[in-house]
Amino acid sequence: MAISAFPVISGRFLVNGEWIKGARITDVINPANITEVVGEVALCSKEDVIQAVDAADSAFRSWSRTTAEERASRMKAAAHKLSEAIDEHVSLFVRENGKVLAEAKKDLLRCVEIMSKAADALLEWWQPESIPGGQMVQIRKRPRGVTAVISPWNSPMILTFKRVIPAILAGNTVVVKPATDCPLTVLSTLQVVAAHFPPGVINIVTGSGGLVGEILCSDSRVRTIAFTGSTDTGKRIMSLASGTVKKLYMELGGNDPALILPDAVLDETAMLRIRMGILRAAGQVCSAIKRVYVHESRYDELVDKLKKEFHQVIVGNGIHPDALMGPINNKTQFDFVRGLIERTKQSGAKVETLGHKLDPDTWENGYFLLPSLVTGLDQQSELVRVEQFGPVIPIIPYADVEEAVELANDTEFGLRASVWTADSQKAEELADRLQAGAVFHNNHTIFQDLHLDFPGLKESGLSRETRWCGLELFADSFGFAN
Ligand code: NAD
Repeated sequence: MAISAFPVISGRFLVNGEWIKGARITDVINPANITEVVGEVALCSKEDVIQAVDAADSAFRSWSRTTAEERASRMKAAAHKLSEAIDEHVSLFVRENGKVLAEAKKDLLRCVEIMSKAADALLEWWQPESIPGGQMVQIRKRPRGVTAVISPWNSPMILTFKRVIPAILAGNTVVVKPATDCPLTVLSTLQVVAAHFPPGVINIVTGSGGLVGEILCSDSRVRTIAFTGSTDTGKRIMSLASGTVKKLYMELGGNDPALILPDAVLDETAMLRIRMGILRAAGQVCSAIKRVYVHESRYDELVDKLKKEFHQVIVGNGIHPDALMGPINNKTQFDFVRGLIERTKQSGAKVETLGHKLDPDTWENGYFLLPSLVTGLDQQSELVRVEQFGPVIPIIPYADVEEAVELANDTEFGLRASVWTADSQKAEELADRLQAGAVFHNNHTIFQDLHLDFPGLKESGLSRETRWCGLELFADSFGFAN
């Protein structure tokens, strides 16, 4: 595919409808070809962030008083415009993120879908609800104020749109802070969206989390923080937010277990699903399968079949249609995963590296890793305890299902889990006992219905399920009695 000529908002940030050139900038690198500079990102200053919050705070006064109909209608128009610009953005997204083409396109299409589904949901959800009884009491909704949306590099499009869209639909204004390693597609697509809203409704600042993110999270005018990223950063943000008692929506790290029961059907479909659950986006997915627990009676079969699956994976530049898996997004994460694999080998575990290089000649130019399958390790191994966020998976046998549930829950995380069994009733029983925000039966994926969201448990997140495209997170309900 030809490289897109779409004008990237390079080195600029958005305040009150104006794209301002950053006084300091840094390069955004293509992880599949680290000599290619995809664009520049501004390193905003403290003053830049304050200016963005000023703009959001001031725009809130009028935006919060618009009708739900007006907000939904603007969003529909923006969704239509963005849908026409998807193809122009796909290659940009692949080049700065590393995802393969099909995955990148899916993410972008989903952003458009989020916009129109959430706009439809708003019209129903925003209606006042009457509570039956002697006194006439209504539950009404109102927006909360300036919302900070802070997103990570691994899935920046969906994780930015899933927060920004319901936030502004509910009548809030936003200051968005995308990750420095992968900000350009967020900036460029939000440019399309922002043009459909009054200046100051959508503002974007870029740069270091430690500076830009912290100033944003400490500002008293920011009333809600929607953060997606690592648990450590989430904890830091919680402490910053406590100063002015902000509402927090936290989607944090994960270490998802997959439990393969003695009666699991390990046919072609199941094996492909397990492989995708592990290797989608080279394992850089918060809710990827990160630990596999398999009953000892099925251990050899599972390992053998998974090796065959991994062996089919062609790793290379995601822009090439034959690549099934792209590179790691950035050097820090690349070095971390390589180091983890090295330490796992040194610990005595068996690491089998599988799959194929799409182009051996350019392999060293990117942050590429072939998928690895690891056996001969136990629950205390580093690879089992930490979130690897890369294409390497530990496989651990267990003797009985009680033990498997204990091993699965033996983690500070609680994002997703999956149970692989022919017995649906057993799957339901185990789902009740697994400490995870969502449990899948014979799959490990995302919810197809965009209205639904189930954040993680334990140190994987805060806020409970949403059934309205996330709108509930960004409005306060209040009672009105007559
Ligand atoms: P990260 O926590 O390092 O950064 C996320 C965002 O926070 C970035 O924009 C960063 O600049 C900003 N940030 C960093 N320090 C900050 C601070 N002190 N104050 C305010 N903002 C700050 O995470 P990452 O490395 O970009 O992403 C990978 C992590 O995100 C993994 O742990 C993954 O599991 C998690 N994640 C979770 C979900 C989910 O839905 N639960 C989804 C995707 C990723």
